[in-house]
Amino acid sequence: MHEHSLTELSAAIKNKTLSSVEVTQHFLNRIHKHENLNAFLEVHEQQALKQAKWCDNNPESSKDKPLFGVPIAHKDIFCTIDGHTTCASKVLDKFQANYDATVVKKCAHAGMINLGKLNMDEFAMGSTNENSAYGPVANPWNHENCPGGSSGGSASAVSARLAPIATGSDTGGSIRQPASFTGITGIKPTYGRISRYGMIAFASSLDQAGPMTTSVSDAALMLNIMCGYDHNDTTTAQIAVPDFTKNLNNDIKGLTIGIPEEFFGDGLQEDCKLAVEKAIKTYQELGAIIKPIHLPNLSFAIPTYYLLAPIEAASNLARYDGIHYGYRHKDAESLESLYQLSREYGFGKEVKRRILIGTFASSTEYSAAYYKQALIAKKIITNDYKKAFTEVDAILTPTTTSTAFKLNNKDQSPSSLYLSDIYTVSVNLASLPALSIPVGFDHKNLPIGMQLISNRFNEQTILQLGHAYQRATQWHTMYPELYKG
Ligand code: GLN
Repeated sequence: MHEHSLTELSAAIKNKTLSSVEVTQHFLNRIHKHENLNAFLEVHEQQALKQAKWCDNNPESSKDKPLFGVPIAHKDIFCTIDGHTTCASKVLDKFQANYDATVVKKCAHAGMINLGKLNMDEFAMGSTNENSAYGPVANPWNHENCPGGSSGGSASAVSARLAPIATGSDTGGSIRQPASFTGITGIKPTYGRISRYGMIAFASSLDQAGPMTTSVSDAALMLNIMCGYDHNDTTTAQIAVPDFTKNLNNDIKGLTIGIPEEFFGDGLQEDCKLAVEKAIKTYQELGAIIKPIHLPNLSFAIPTYYLLAPIEAASNLARYDGIHYGYRHKDAESLESLYQLSREYGFGKEVKRRILIGTFASSTEYSAAYYKQALIAKKIITNDYKKAFTEVDAILTPTTTSTAFKLNNKDQSPSSLYLSDIYTVSVNLASLPALSIPVGFDHKNLPIGMQLISNRFNEQTILQLGHAYQRATQWHTMYPELYKG
């Protein structure tokens, strides 16, 4: 069952070859068996089985529900009425949301069953999942490595086939980088495609939800479910949502793929470079036109992102004051000390670092030097992409500079981790859609990912290209031996 695609699972449930209870129980068993991955923060066992039973008893309700009775797991950044929503922070320990995020609601409307909530970096800040207040997550390919972050629980769960699909969120790479580190497929759609309502805010102008799956065709199916205008999020786009599955099989002959030289420089690990170059050859064989291009201002991306994201985070996280939500320190003697103590004990180190950077960089004295400059750089990066898309249909790059980092790496400084986001953050700054798919393994048998970027609201092109690659290759079907059977 855990090797079935979403379409296969849904068809099997609809034609009663499998019951939803059987499928749900199968994934719950796998989750329990592989608890040591620490991918789940909470398993909604009883609730999930109850819903599955309901599906089995009400087959007539499956009409217009494309994934009736099929399980899913949600990153703990999405509010759910069931269980807790913590964003992997102590500040939201035992917090119970009183509404479902739009994404959660849409998945439920499609008939999907929530298995539980997935581990992540606290408030989605990080690249290793080690910033979770509830412990790190292991990479199923090698437990000594991290699954990436911030959607590390989602990536680990899908890679080990503990869930057929998981939701993630991507502010600077948090869907694509963990997808790359764990050998799965992940797409960050165009900013504004998917509602952020009920998705706990990190950096509101960059945050975007997306699916993490085992194939591009499953990702396309999930986008059909997750996308669309929402009056609760005024930044969602009021444009029609196409059927993303429709053109998947179209021939890619004649499509032009741009290869930006700046993404293949010194910092790139040799194994990753070779695997991505091989993928480029595959595209050539499939009839795509390969064209060298330039994105000359890529070097601005990291400083720009690491100013804008913390500035927005500092503002968004002001709401965790010990009064409104979650954690409240017991020893406070005044209002001020209540704020101080609750935030001091509630937030982890990285979150505090970001709040300090963001508060500093947006303060009256420094905002001209930092915030305003960053906004200008964002525009310059966006224009580079705009220009590139007058020449090419899509851009192909490695997703990450290396394969998965070792857990507990004491030599890894925060700034070296920030630098590792070089291939993903510019995409968020330019509000573009981008897909990461597996393209091979390094000499340590850790997965390698490639990124496909397209123009705003043109997810179809990268889905079509990704699907063509997955029809021609087998990488996406591979998952670690330990999790077979
Ligand atoms: N690694 C990046 C950061 O730490 C991206 C996080 C994200 O996309 N949520 O900010």
